[in-house]
Amino acid sequence: MADNTISTTTDLDTFEKVDESELSKFTKLSNFEVSAIFLQYAQNNLRDNRVINAGRGNPNWINTLSRAAFAKLVQFGIDESGNTFQRDDGVMAGYIESNGVADRVLNKLSDTDTVDQFIRSSIDYGANKLGFDKDAFVAELLNGVIGNNYPVPSRSLKYTEDILKQYLQKNLFKDADLADETDVFPTEGGTAAMVYLFQELSQSHILKPGDTIAINSPIFTPYLQIPELREYNLKIVKLAATEDENWQMTDEQMDVLKDPRIKAFFDVNPTNPAARAYSPHTLDKFKDVVKENPNLIVVTDDVYGTFADDYQSIYASIPENTLLVYSFSKLYGATGHRLGLIAMDKNNVCDKMIKEETAKDPEIKKEFDERYSMVVTEPEDMKFIDRTVADSRAIGLYHTSGLSTPQQIMMDLFAMNSLISGDVVDDYLVESKKLVNYRYHALWDEIGVNVDNSHGNTKYYTLVNIYDLVEKIHGADFAEYFRNHYSYLSFPYRLAREFGAVVMDASGFGANEGYVRISLANLTSADYRDLAHCMKTLIDEYYLEFRANK
Ligand SMILES: *Cc1c(COP(=O)(O)O)cnc(C)c1O
Repeated sequence: MADNTISTTTDLDTFEKVDESELSKFTKLSNFEVSAIFLQYAQNNLRDNRVINAGRGNPNWINTLSRAAFAKLVQFGIDESGNTFQRDDGVMAGYIESNGVADRVLNKLSDTDTVDQFIRSSIDYGANKLGFDKDAFVAELLNGVIGNNYPVPSRSLKYTEDILKQYLQKNLFKDADLADETDVFPTEGGTAAMVYLFQELSQSHILKPGDTIAINSPIFTPYLQIPELREYNLKIVKLAATEDENWQMTDEQMDVLKDPRIKAFFDVNPTNPAARAYSPHTLDKFKDVVKENPNLIVVTDDVYGTFADDYQSIYASIPENTLLVYSFSKLYGATGHRLGLIAMDKNNVCDKMIKEETAKDPEIKKEFDERYSMVVTEPEDMKFIDRTVADSRAIGLYHTSGLSTPQQIMMDLFAMNSLISGDVVDDYLVESKKLVNYRYHALWDEIGVNVDNSHGNTKYYTLVNIYDLVEKIHGADFAEYFRNHYSYLSFPYRLAREFGAVVMDASGFGANEGYVRISLANLTSADYRDLAHCMKTLIDEYYLEFRANK
């Protein structure tokens, strides 16, 4: 088979070679693991097709400008370190002298080079818009990129925190003015942010074993798996959004959150896998919810926030109840860097609950005193976010708990793409949204079904209901046969085994069986057309089998 063409001949002989008996082994595995196994099948697919892997959420584009600026700053940092002392052969130098460093760096920048202009605009933005001391800011950038000091303060570098707050303000908070009252803890990706928050909610007794939490499903699988671990042992109430409601939670589902027995609500917004942002109506409903359940903790994972038009986070509606997780992984193609953060309001329900519990329960007061007196003189007053930092490094290593400084500066530089363009949306974001949008339409156009073009649809992923599609193409009788004769994993399995195309089972995310998730992040639009073609051909094969057996 020529490398680029995809064979989609309808081929019953191929079909008969596929053995589905082992599929039952996979039903307990996480859908991420199943997808990895199906990828191996795809690599040896029966048609010898090139592999089309639409399972991956990792983007196939990167932001180059910030990376180029990072590389330049590393060299500037090395040069500046040479001003204090330097060995003749250049392999060793001293430390950076902050005095006058901004002008020395600005003087090296040309007016025509794109990367130099970006660095200049970033320094200007810090100095003029955020009122940073120029030398101190440039010194933080240069010391940070070369990584010559422990991260101090532990939670976040000073100017980095301000930049991240402005980034969140512009992209996630919108017209709710919250930057000044927000604290930020940069972490090793959204992954670490999630882990630290689960740990800390448990450590501070805000979530106790046996407590009930609610989750907006379908959802990124770890949010279903982590609460069930022995160390958390939480009961989960799933608020399952459906396609009929355009993947939005209904008012009745929102009302469930008003019950004070629901201690926390975990959500991904815009959702993964459904890729929809909460409507303004839903965001408003959260205000009613916390009137009746004032201690409700909302953990919102806004990794895809920038991909929705006019996006606003739950954090903007109920900041005091919300713990915000963000990651630079997806938009900037930076999954290998591990760049994420936790943000929370300075005035928040977690701190209030810790205070109340310590006042009420001498055992808990004693526990907190013993635990945190190693690192602070007033353990009771230690804020939830600082406890999160300390507990992320088993308290004893609080003084070295900060995120690696080059990672923090990389986040600054990604954030600057957005910030230096002022009130308007930056070109890089516009282009990223266009990419996934174009691919989404290539896929659905080829499948031949109308799509949802509403504002809240980010199009980063899409869910396909295979049962509906089967019915649409070959009618209700066949659809019923298809449901009854094959495992829900049959379709993604055969698609991989026979055609070399990988899609993800979405029931692992908590969607109904029969849904598969297709990521629009990782392939070309031509690939998505080919994928749609393979899917339709596979459905025809099942149909031939149905006809042959009738
Ligand atoms: C991809 C993804 C993440 C991962 O973030 P990292 O920063 O790469 O760890 C977190 N949450 C959701 C919902 C994701 O889809």
